[in-house]
Amino acid sequence: MDAFVYNANAARVVFGAGALRHLEREIGLLGAQRALVLSTPGQRKLAERVAALLGAKAAGIFDGAVMHVPIEAARQARDEARRLDADCAVAIGGGSTVGLGKAIALESGLPILAIPTTYAGSEMTPIYGITEGGLKKTGKDARVLPRTVIYDPELSTGLPVGLSVTSAMNAMAHAAEGLYAQDSNPIMSLMAEQGLAAIARALPGIVRQAGDIEARSQALYGAWLCGTVLGNVGMALHHKLCHTLGGSFNLPHAECHTIVLPHAMAYNAPAVPDAMARIARAIGTQDAAAGLHDLARDNGAPVALRDLGMPEADLDRAADIAVSNPYWNPRPIERSAIRALLQNAWAGVRPV
Ligand code: NAD
Repeated sequence: MDAFVYNANAARVVFGAGALRHLEREIGLLGAQRALVLSTPGQRKLAERVAALLGAKAAGIFDGAVMHVPIEAARQARDEARRLDADCAVAIGGGSTVGLGKAIALESGLPILAIPTTYAGSEMTPIYGITEGGLKKTGKDARVLPRTVIYDPELSTGLPVGLSVTSAMNAMAHAAEGLYAQDSNPIMSLMAEQGLAAIARALPGIVRQAGDIEARSQALYGAWLCGTVLGNVGMALHHKLCHTLGGSFNLPHAECHTIVLPHAMAYNAPAVPDAMARIARAIGTQDAAAGLHDLARDNGAPVALRDLGMPEADLDRAADIAVSNPYWNPRPIERSAIRALLQNAWAGVRPV
């Protein structure tokens, strides 16, 4: 057995359909009295529901969360927290809203209670990102890790089916790369495999009926496990490619993960056959890469970068950026093979 280091990130998780009703109790356990509720403009109504549940313990609502946490939004939210004398922040929404909470915590140390409504998994990681002048800076800081996370599958029934599938594939990418991470450990690998299996099981149910609470519960459970893996071990080629495509070509986050994942797995397969076997077993298929492609396609998700509007002419530049400052990866990064990978992802070829 390989030697390993296992370092648990401490967070309290409250899981279950209807779990939002425990919010006031959870705020009390944090010792907080004045919560600032965060959301995107589109989820303002949900933020109002949260504020109503909190009653006197709600200090106010800031509904200015935006994708990739622009520094201006972070400054506004921090000012609002100070003005209202908030002693905690409740972030309800996807990775963008949780990311805004993290930006507040980074500066003020305010405790964050996160209520995720997508499967992105940011709530389980000490990783933050803030965008300034078009550049996203990311870092790691224990202060930004939410202290409490309430997972209520009822809150994700309104997530459009298309976004549900791509957001869940985004979660699967954390687990898939976690299985071959340089700093992996047996606990994270167990979580990764369970997370992949739970999501693969859940997706057809969500596609059939968006309000299927059992399928939503399985998907959110899987997202928790996959997010935990992301928060504990390092990511590799797949995440580098997605950060390149999102950061330099402005392609949407979850869709990018969905399309690139099978191709990143095909690239790494020869170097990490055991991890591939575990992914394949978890999703009930013979081959990890082809199985992930089929899972996306069969559940109606995009499988080609060209369908996101990426011009073929950008592929060379994308390959150049992806091979510069590469993350650690189990297979050496070769420019020509990465260029071929991107071509396949652009065209939506099923990896074999
Ligand atoms: P998002 O938070 O941007 O949400 C997408 C849209 O869906 C938003 O308009 C949101 O209001 C809406 N939405 C969310 N939940 C909904 C629901 N249940 N019903 C209806 N609408 C809903 O998207 P995301 O994919 O969750 O997060 C992406 C962002 O999170 C990216 O910026 C990414 O970099 C970041 N992220 C960070 C980490 C980390 O560890 N730091 C991890 C994963 C993602």
